[in-house]
Amino acid sequence: MSNHVLLIDANKTPMNPIHPAHAQKLMDTGKAAVFRFYPFTLIVNRVVENIITYPIALKIDPGSKTTGISLVNNRNEVIWGMELEHRGSVIKDALQSRRAVRLNRRQRKTRYRKARFLNRKRPKGWLAPSLMHRVQTIETWVKRLCKFALIAEIRQELVKFDMQQLENPEISETDYQQGTLEGYSVREYLLEKYDRTCCYCGKTDVPLQIEHIQARSKGGSNRVSNLCIACEKCNQKKGDRDIKDFLKGKPDIISKILKQAKAPLKDAAAVNATRWKLLETLKMLELPVTTGTGAETKFNRIRLHLAKEHWIDAACVGVTNILKVLTSKILRVKSTGQGGRKKCQTDTIGYPQKYRPLKPIHGFCTGDIVKTVIPKGVNRGTYIARLCPYSDGNGEIYPKSGKKRIGIKLEYIKKAVHRKDGYSYA
Ligand SMILES: [Zn+2]
Repeated sequence: MSNHVLLIDANKTPMNPIHPAHAQKLMDTGKAAVFRFYPFTLIVNRVVENIITYPIALKIDPGSKTTGISLVNNRNEVIWGMELEHRGSVIKDALQSRRAVRLNRRQRKTRYRKARFLNRKRPKGWLAPSLMHRVQTIETWVKRLCKFALIAEIRQELVKFDMQQLENPEISETDYQQGTLEGYSVREYLLEKYDRTCCYCGKTDVPLQIEHIQARSKGGSNRVSNLCIACEKCNQKKGDRDIKDFLKGKPDIISKILKQAKAPLKDAAAVNATRWKLLETLKMLELPVTTGTGAETKFNRIRLHLAKEHWIDAACVGVTNILKVLTSKILRVKSTGQGGRKKCQTDTIGYPQKYRPLKPIHGFCTGDIVKTVIPKGVNRGTYIARLCPYSDGNGEIYPKSGKKRIGIKLEYIKKAVHRKDGYSYA
């Protein structure tokens, strides 16, 4: 089932998102028309007075490569989802190559220039452009969704586990049992503390379990200072044996574990700069913003038997009792950037290869999504696809992300469905 369709009235006031079948009916009877393709939004042909809307929560799970965004209504139904793919590494590479070119030029042209690296200051809260891009693209999409749906609150995943919930985790007795929220927090805490490695054999990339250093049956406590992380094999092999007995002949490992178990994790709330910046930015939107922890998200997702996807994780952010997922075909968005302003394309050494025409080219830009009717040939048919125009009056369209491109004449284009906005859609 597809995402619900966003709906606005003739005054562009957001109304409740509607079921895709309902949307089709409105379009067939001429009561509504397409306002925007991405996100798919309909506009009703009249002004609706006293719109009765239910509040919608916008939930965000920010990730380093992909961010999940979901809309959840007041009946705990996930009605809309999207995944936003970031381009952090592309930005980093582009800036690095610009830096190399600049350094080279300045060495050539201004050889006796004074060193000027100490006169630069970064403002407080500065983030690298590749990180800032994540915050800004998410902000763009949140603002965009606020225009087409009545968002009542925003929920964002902020940290892996709540340190306040685990105050003095080393001394307080905790209920670490799997299947409880606290269990998930303790687990995440231990995984972080022991660097996701089996304490006994040093294996990584295996399922890890919570392990009592002094077994429960031998009087060991549930305190975090008595817990460590072990792979299943080691966990079973050790059983309720004493650690000194189990690791006989490996005194350095014993002392390391015992020392690490007593020491609290200092940078547990390892500040994820991007997430905090995003929270700051979202708070400026004058909507109530609440945060959830990664442990809560995982706890919800596993308890509700949901698949591990970014947009589902987003829907699971925060305290949720039930969740009904009403969509599976979600909007997949990839950040592509707005294209460069370079007029001269060079080879790897820097020699000019070709000159690029100014945008727009015959009225189109790379990244425009257009409706094309090809009248003849093997590729005859109608397409709605992303375009790359050439200055000689031809161009290419990319009907599906995996499929090959198709060469077209620009005169075959009927209309631009969605103008270039720095994203590609699937
Ligand atoms: Zn092990």
